[in-house]
Amino acid sequence: MKKILFLATLLFTVSVSAQWSKKQEDRVQRLLSQMTIEEKAGQMTQINLDVICEGEIYKLVEPHHIDPKKLQEAIEKYHVGSILNCGGHAYPYAQWHEIILGIHQATIAYQQKHTYESKYIPVLYGIDAIHGANYIMGGTLFPQQLGQAATFNPALIEEAARITAYETRAAGIPWNFSPVLDVARVPTWSRFFETYGEDPYLCSVLGKSAVKGYQGMFGLDNNGEVDEFHVAACMKHFLGYSGARTGKDRTPAYLSDIQLKEIYRPSFQAAINQGALTVMINSGEINGIPVHANPKILSDLLRKEMGFTGMAVTDWEDVMKLVNIHHVAENMKDAVALAVNAGIDMCMVPNDYSFTTLLIELVKEGKITEERLNQSVYRILKLKEQLDLFDNPVPFVKNSYPEKMSQQFQQTAVRAAEESITLLENHKEKKGSLPWSNTMNICVVGNAANQLIYQNGAWSRTWQGTDTTWNDSSRLTVFESIKIQNKGQTICLLNRWSEEAAKKAKRLTKKSDVILVCLGEKPSTEKPGDIDDLNWEKSERQTIKWALSTGKPVVLVLFENRPRLVNDWVEQCAAVIMAYQPGEWGNIALANILFGKSNPSGKLPFTYPRFNQSLLTYDHKHSEELDVNFGNKAFNPQWPFGHGLSYSELIYENLRISDILNEKGEKKWILTVDVKNNSDLDAKETVLVYKHDRVASVTPHVKKLIDFSKKEIKANTTIQFSFEIDIEDLSFVGENGQYLIEPGIWDIYVGNLSSIIEIKP
Ligand code: BGC
Repeated sequence: MKKILFLATLLFTVSVSAQWSKKQEDRVQRLLSQMTIEEKAGQMTQINLDVICEGEIYKLVEPHHIDPKKLQEAIEKYHVGSILNCGGHAYPYAQWHEIILGIHQATIAYQQKHTYESKYIPVLYGIDAIHGANYIMGGTLFPQQLGQAATFNPALIEEAARITAYETRAAGIPWNFSPVLDVARVPTWSRFFETYGEDPYLCSVLGKSAVKGYQGMFGLDNNGEVDEFHVAACMKHFLGYSGARTGKDRTPAYLSDIQLKEIYRPSFQAAINQGALTVMINSGEINGIPVHANPKILSDLLRKEMGFTGMAVTDWEDVMKLVNIHHVAENMKDAVALAVNAGIDMCMVPNDYSFTTLLIELVKEGKITEERLNQSVYRILKLKEQLDLFDNPVPFVKNSYPEKMSQQFQQTAVRAAEESITLLENHKEKKGSLPWSNTMNICVVGNAANQLIYQNGAWSRTWQGTDTTWNDSSRLTVFESIKIQNKGQTICLLNRWSEEAAKKAKRLTKKSDVILVCLGEKPSTEKPGDIDDLNWEKSERQTIKWALSTGKPVVLVLFENRPRLVNDWVEQCAAVIMAYQPGEWGNIALANILFGKSNPSGKLPFTYPRFNQSLLTYDHKHSEELDVNFGNKAFNPQWPFGHGLSYSELIYENLRISDILNEKGEKKWILTVDVKNNSDLDAKETVLVYKHDRVASVTPHVKKLIDFSKKEIKANTTIQFSFEIDIEDLSFVGENGQYLIEPGIWDIYVGNLSSIIEIKP
């Protein structure tokens, strides 16, 4: 693993670039030299699909179709380089093909009216396929990123991304605004579920896997092209987006250089090193400067220091927001100058052509140089060439992508959900604890019991994921899945809380052996997802209290955008499960876990808080542990980062660390630990390796993840896990902003075991 951390965070490395051929370079340079300023400004413009469809923006005529006049204007008058999104909801493949072909034909028609080559430039279509092909009807949905992180399984994440890329490309869309590489440090944040959790190292490893899955072997060995089964990844949202102090979306972050480097940068650096082709910029501000207007972040840091050579797109309306939200520009024209001079390449305008016309004016007035324009347009054309859009713009015409929406893809989604679902509590002494036999009388209650939207979350067929019109009615809910697997009686009650319904339900639960309470946070993202309180909504609190008041054993399952407080109920429950938002196939996974067909192996990729005002991450500082009694018990989360139970007893033993010299004659350490599966069930276990620096010139974290590995451990067997610790894994960001390694002693924690590493002065 070490290589990843080191490359990701420590050294400046040149990103791995594919073999970009002379032929490709020549085409891009030739086009660039032939293009007018108007065409160049157009390439830097990205519009929303609504702009070219029949009807009004946000009020399109159903079913959505392209309006040929509007499309012609976009291509011929404004020369737009890119179009994004769907007009508010998912489309079946046939509709996507109609849209993508329509756009392609418009670019060809324009070219035919002219004689020189630059008139043919394919339009780059981009979409948010963030947990599967969520804007395609029937597209395979995986758990949201947070759930994917709970699998601690990089290969599985790569495979989910590969499938997503395949299904997205099958629609004719070559660019995916994913993965989210923001690190979830603030539990109230409305996009917590879109991340790989709170740890920078975990986000780096998994982000890299996602990029690999989306882009294929691009960046490593495929002649500089992403093939027609893969898409360009987009790392988002650079940088520090998730660090907003209030946790409310797009509010200010106040972050030190050390925090930026140690927490927020590594995941982006790992993805850059993996060859990620594009980046999307943080809509918010850091230390008073909106990131879209900050050349230090967009040019000096991203390009010069971190070595990114790909294309940078703004987020939604963010140039305009420099005027009306951030108040750093008086008008849109100043905002365009600020953002372009700071380093953006493409503007997600997205609903008009103001950016395009103002950019042309600014270049003509000399306020933005043509050289600056050329830099961005070069990157955009290069990306189109890397995606082979000039030669193969609509691959679905000849390739039917037969595997799309296949059972095999769906099985991977079930597996991903199974490996994500995290058993938080299992009070074996209580009736109703897990796993259950499949002959029980089960009563399933709660808003998420029989409603798909809570399984899927936001970015599922619609942006907010709440409109049930676009649910696939053939997909099962939790209740339906349990009913299929259970031979006893399964009833579903109380999907919507009311006193009256609760009274009636109490009578009906008389024969039940257990009540499964499925609490779902209303799907939401971005601004609509802001909350003031981590407590559950009143109706959900009433549901769980009611279930506990029946005296029946209760198992609680959580479907959440972020950790919502459960402290008052946990001890009374027989078991508690975190399901995250496991996607359309998550119900099968959950039923498999409840009935013991699958042994849970998910682990929390974040610290689950117990109280509203104690929101520490696991890698906090020692001073944050001091309590009112002058002890060190102040860090008292509901469940720690990395927590997750198995049905098997897993025993850690024989932790050994030995030092050796690497090829360069530098010291490194080999750590081995045995994990014994003391049960008759096969299990999977993730071993997490943490370091703790005893003394350092910058206050050390109480612990910091440096490696992890997940393996299957067959029933009644022992497996050895082995890790390499390189010297740079012991580094930290010093006061001068550089990575340092100071002599000293490190505690190394693995499960309940520990040992030390020492570096002598
Ligand atoms: C979100 C991005 C998303 C973009 C396009 C923005 O509002 O912040 O994450 O990719 O919209 O849909």
